[in-house]
Amino acid sequence: MTLGGIGLTSSTARSRLVDKLRSEKLAGEEVLAILDSIPRHVFVDEAVAHRAYDNTVLPIGHRQTISQPAVIAMMSDSVASVSKRDKILEIGTGCGYQTAVIARLFKEVYTVERIQSLSSRAQQTLNDLNFHNVHCKFDDGHAGWLENAPFDAIIVTAAAEGLPEALLDQLRVGGRLVIPVVEFGVDAQELIQMDRLEEGFLRKWIGSVRFVPMLKGTVS
Ligand code: SAH
Repeated sequence: MTLGGIGLTSSTARSRLVDKLRSEKLAGEEVLAILDSIPRHVFVDEAVAHRAYDNTVLPIGHRQTISQPAVIAMMSDSVASVSKRDKILEIGTGCGYQTAVIARLFKEVYTVERIQSLSSRAQQTLNDLNFHNVHCKFDDGHAGWLENAPFDAIIVTAAAEGLPEALLDQLRVGGRLVIPVVEFGVDAQELIQMDRLEEGFLRKWIGSVRFVPMLKGTVS
């Protein structure tokens, strides 16, 4: 992998993208600074690296995609404002770009991916970029990661049919789940934030989004 990949123009293109996200008020300065510091082009195939700083989804193989920067900004901003930032769980590692962003916000990141080759490639990329606080697991994320629960935040980057019970259970009181949920019968998804209270949850709508589906089982 060539970290310098697309040359000297990448940081200029990245700053331009971040300026656009700022003008749309999609995230606060802490998250924007992180987006400005992480080379998104390193996470995608060389064939599409020249489009890494467009505000768009891109293919990462296995019919999966890297999320749109605007959506990464919104989701990261949502988890950034939890009261404690020790441990976060991510379901859907994909290429590891969203993982890298939250690794700058939280002390430890636990991330689960159901496609083995994506999981190992992401692990390699994150290692090359010196993210040493990320723990990757190849598994079906519907079960969360019980051994490391409870989490201060959980972020799901694939569209779920309803709220997975195990993920709600693995949130600490005061913690937050951010998840795209498929609205029944509608070809659109809603990005939902669920805050765990002493009793029950507080649900908030963040926006309308499009993600690849959250699927059962694993692919090795
Ligand atoms: N987080 C990525 C986006 C990944 S796309 C980014 O930074 O851009 C969604 C990912 O979720 C895909 O890689 C897909 O394989 C994975 N996924 C879907 N269902 C899953 C499940 N049940 N458990 C774990 N990963 C899942």
